[in-house]
This record gives sequence, C-alpha cells and structure tokens, in this order.
Amino acid sequence: MAGQGPAAGLADRVEGHLVWLRGLYRHFHRYPELSMNEVGTADRIEQELVALGLSPLRVAGTGVVAVIQNGEGPVVLARADTDALPVTEDTGLEYASAVPGVMHACGHDAHAAALLGAVRVLAEHREAWSGTYIAVFQPGEETAAGARAMVADGLVDLVPRPDVALSQHVMATAAGTIGTVSGPVLSAGDSLRITVHGRGAHGSMPHTSVDPVVLASSIVLRLQTIVAREIEPGQFAVVTVGAITAGAKANIIPDRAELLLNIRAYDPAVRGRVLASIERIVRGECAASGAPAEPEFQYYDQYPLTSNDPAVTETVTRVFEEYFGSESVYQATPVTASEDFSFIPLAFGVPYTYWTVGSVEPERYRDALARGAVGQEIPANHSPQFAPQEDPTLLTATRAQVVAALAYLAKDARAGKPA
Ligand code: ZN
Ligand code: ZN
Repeated sequence: MAGQGPAAGLADRVEGHLVWLRGLYRHFHRYPELSMNEVGTADRIEQELVALGLSPLRVAGTGVVAVIQNGEGPVVLARADTDALPVTEDTGLEYASAVPGVMHACGHDAHAAALLGAVRVLAEHREAWSGTYIAVFQPGEETAAGARAMVADGLVDLVPRPDVALSQHVMATAAGTIGTVSGPVLSAGDSLRITVHGRGAHGSMPHTSVDPVVLASSIVLRLQTIVAREIEPGQFAVVTVGAITAGAKANIIPDRAELLLNIRAYDPAVRGRVLASIERIVRGECAASGAPAEPEFQYYDQYPLTSNDPAVTETVTRVFEEYFGSESVYQATPVTASEDFSFIPLAFGVPYTYWTVGSVEPERYRDALARGAVGQEIPANHSPQFAPQEDPTLLTATRAQVVAALAYLAKDARAGKPA
C-alpha cells in the first residue's frame, strides 16, 4: 500500500524492512521478560540502535532511549513498552514463548519492534525531515513501575524537552485499522490493600471477639453502594474487590482481614470521590464493629489517567487518515484499562496522544462483530491465546509511528504552516 500525505515517502519505506521487523518481533515474542526484568530485550534493542549508528542511553536499568538530532525543528518523543506478562502461552505459534510461564500477551513485543522500525526509517532518511526524534523503550508497563522509574532516573534531564509525546497499543480489533480519540482514552487505575483489625477468639466464643470476617463482609457489600448510589449516573467508575483474605481454620476467629481493591475512573474528581468514599465506609464499618484499631490503607500499582490532547490528536488523526485512508481510522471508545505512559509526558509537562492499532484478521473480526461475539471469540490482550496477526499489524504499527512523528517533523508538513 502506498499512502498519501507528507509522510507517505518514508512510511512506504517500512515495507522494505518487513523481514527485519518480523525477525525482531518474533525474537521479542519468543523471549518474553517480566516487568522491570527486561534485560535481554533491552540488550537487543540497544544492539539494534547501535547498528543504526545511534548512541542509546540506559535509563532505570532496562529502559532504553535513543535520540536522533537532525537540525532545527520540533522535538517528538515516541514511547513503546517492552515487558511481558506471567501468562503461559497457548497460541501454537511457531515463534511462541520459549520461557515457561511468561508471555508477550499484551503486544508489547509489537510495540518495541514498531518503534525500532520507525527509528530505522527516520535514521536512514534524515533528508526527509528535521527536528529531534526521541525513542523511549519503556520497561515495566504492566506493573505501572516503568515510566515512573525512568522519570525517577532522570529521563527529563537526559533528553531534550519534547513538544509532543506519542504512544500506541495493539488491540484485538481489525488489523490494518487505527483508533484515535480525544480526551480520556484509558482510565486512571488504583489498587488498594485494606487491612481491618478485629479481636481474635475461639470459634465457639464469638462474644469475646470482634470478628473481622463479618466486618470485611459488610465492607464488601457497602462498597457496592459507591458506584450505585454516590457516583452520578453516566459517570464512569469501577470498584472491584478482587481478593479478601482472613483466617485459616473453622474454629478460630482471626484478628484481621485484608481486602484488595481495584478502582478505575476517567474523571479525577470521580476518582477522588471514590477513594474518599472507600476510606469513609471502611472507617465507618470498623467503628460500627468496635474494631480495636484503625484500618490501614496501602495504595499500589497506581496508573495515571491517559487523556489525549485534542490538538495533538486532531493532527495525528488527520495524517493517519491521509496516509491509511479514512476508512482505516476510526474513533476509538475509551477503555477501562490503564497505562503508565502519561507519566512521561506529564513529567515533561507536554501534550500527548495514544492510539490503538488493530491486530485481528479483519474478516474474522468483522464476522465476530456482526454476531456480537467479539468478546467470546477473539482472544484479547492478556489472554494466553492473544496472537496478533503479524501482517499487516507490524506494518501498520510501524507506519503509524512514522506517520505520527512526521506530522511534526516532515519538512513538507511544515511548509506554509507555523511550526
Ligand atoms: Zn497489558
Ligand atoms: Zn499493554
């Protein structure tokens, strides 16, 4: 396919590197590594960048950053995540994971390969653009640790300040299509460990106890009223109690219970309300039970809201439509999953956009969609059967990174337009 628009010349060149791209993708897929432990992956990325004549930096151990400085012009930062998941692969692919219990089940292998592909095309064809391109290969997305770790390790001072930041994610939608949306695209996510204290006793003498099992049970039920009764209908919020642990034996009343909660929201005010309501309800139930000690709240795996900048999203959507054709670019609906990408643009204080790239054989996807069976029939991200169709997913993801960057960096994109 030869697309249109200022980026067409370079994005078309990606096809010539398809064998190399597939090789990279299959290598990453075959040797997945868990969050913040992406040692071999980072080494391979570094090796490829060096082969392209670049001088990559290591940030936060397994993070890799390459900067292509190519004269005057805007600065674009593009980010790919690189970590895999503790999932046992069940795809039957010839390049399936060679690491027991670990799998690239979220497509980060494709993200890493696509960003390397974009770097290659931009590094080899500097005559077509000017400005600065920063490629960030970020570890630890799945635990919300990586972006924060790169920022903590000085990312902001190591590279020029970008004007705009870009990222993408492979999803179980039709391969060859791209979804963009202005505003919230991924929810803020919080995990919360709550410990409530009771008074332990023999199971036959409940009157001498403060039973944390009963206490935790009423907390679980009462928490259901937050979304149902406190959040305005139409506003998005999720409160899930994913785990509840107390006691070990039938005839012992334990002295504590632990609850693990997951909370999602798009609106920071809604998120604040939900968190405050959780703490209020837990304290209230503890008081009602006569708990001998205050409950403890420990927040972890906290993901920021991903909210796409309208102007950047409009620019990127327009070049996607020019290059891929408007029939291939759709308006994405916000999803309730979360991402830590936005920590990076937030650390620089710059606008960003985050788009999705389809990965399912289009006929199969449309057929399942027509029957309302996508959720049942198409393995989604994190499934042991998640298997992006290599062609054209890799090509589309790589071209998307090139096209989006060139919306800012291409010489002819800026002609007659204020930079
Ligand atoms: Zn994931
Ligand atoms: Zn992911």
